[in-house]
Amino acid sequence: MKVLVVNAGSSSLKFTVFHITDGERRMLAKGNIERIGLKHPNFIYQRAGDAKTEIEVTIKDHAEALKVLCDRLVDAEVGVLRDLSEIKAIGHRVVHGGEKFTSSAVVNHEVKKSIRDCAALAPLHNPPNLVGIEACETVFPGTPNVAVFDTAFHQTMPPSSYLYAIPRELYERHHIRKYGFHGTSHKYVYGATCEYLKLDPTKARLITCHLGNGGSIAAVHGGKVVDTTMGMTPLAGLVMGTRSGNVDAGVVLFLIRNLGMSVEAVDNLLNKQSGLAGLADGKSDMRDIISAAHHGDAHAQQAFQCFVQRLTSYIGAYFIVLQGADAIVLTGGIGENSAPVREAVIARLGVLGCFLDKSANAVMGQAAVVSTPESTMKAVVMPTNEELMIAIETQEMLTT
Ligand code: ADP
Repeated sequence: MKVLVVNAGSSSLKFTVFHITDGERRMLAKGNIERIGLKHPNFIYQRAGDAKTEIEVTIKDHAEALKVLCDRLVDAEVGVLRDLSEIKAIGHRVVHGGEKFTSSAVVNHEVKKSIRDCAALAPLHNPPNLVGIEACETVFPGTPNVAVFDTAFHQTMPPSSYLYAIPRELYERHHIRKYGFHGTSHKYVYGATCEYLKLDPTKARLITCHLGNGGSIAAVHGGKVVDTTMGMTPLAGLVMGTRSGNVDAGVVLFLIRNLGMSVEAVDNLLNKQSGLAGLADGKSDMRDIISAAHHGDAHAQQAFQCFVQRLTSYIGAYFIVLQGADAIVLTGGIGENSAPVREAVIARLGVLGCFLDKSANAVMGQAAVVSTPESTMKAVVMPTNEELMIAIETQEMLTT
């Protein structure tokens, strides 16, 4: 079955085409249409095995972007389909499913209404996700669409993990609670790591660390999330590229009350000017932090230490939450590629029975065990593949 995976943002449409059968999962083509509705929209396209191409296109909305994409997919020279009817289903990344969605859902009128209802919880993401779905309904009439939610995998958390200690009414009337994000990635690496380490997925205890520009950790037992670091929004938890992660809520009050900042200014400060960038003079990219730290930049050194401190304190907490763990899993751009981050993190985990294998840790972007054989808790690098997870979920929703 050929599945199109769509990740629609306010001015972009990322896509991947997969061929999925029980025995085979193959990426056929992928790309991104950027600056939709803005000046000079750009179409990046790559067929598996070919070089990436980039051209300027004339489009004004997501439906037109999809039509441009469709033309390319059936192009005699660079396409991957004979006919668009080969696409049997479309899987969509949807950021927030609230409490309504504990798994993926085949899109119908009611599902679209629920995605719209959750927009208050993800105002920047859910509306464009819905635009992507509706564009596909227009361009692929009759082809089923499946919504795959970033929050769904975390819906197994118990109230002791998801409730904030604020008046209960705020949860009951306004749905203020921890939801968690990156669920598709946590789910993918949980499954892939169980397979890789030959662990029983109904019993394994894994601490999955998704470390990209945004980052989150999940404590997963038997395929069920028990706790995670992001909250009602993706601002909570780890020190991220430009996001603060956890700060005392009193800081927000201070900024407003004592420094006279507006709500928008605080939002911008905590989401866009904080994290690594806030601590290291605007450097949000871990490669820049590491290189500056090596050259003696004290702010970059501190930012690196704060990143590792926050990360390892959660790993310790989740070891208790899970009452022991088979492995920690490192994924996302930093987890998959940064040997120095992994080394600094694992150096602190000896107390939990996890010791670094320095030569194995040289790995970049591929699955590997990077702890020593005598470690009682393993450390594993596992590349994530959120698009493939969405394609698998889409296929499963339509065939089971
Ligand atoms: P996003 O969350 O935007 O999907 P990614 O998962 O691509 O982000 O991760 C981006 C992060 O990965 C950046 O901080 C980048 O510095 C980091 N990264 C990528 N490659 C390396 C590397 N070789 N060494 C250190 N960090 C890396």
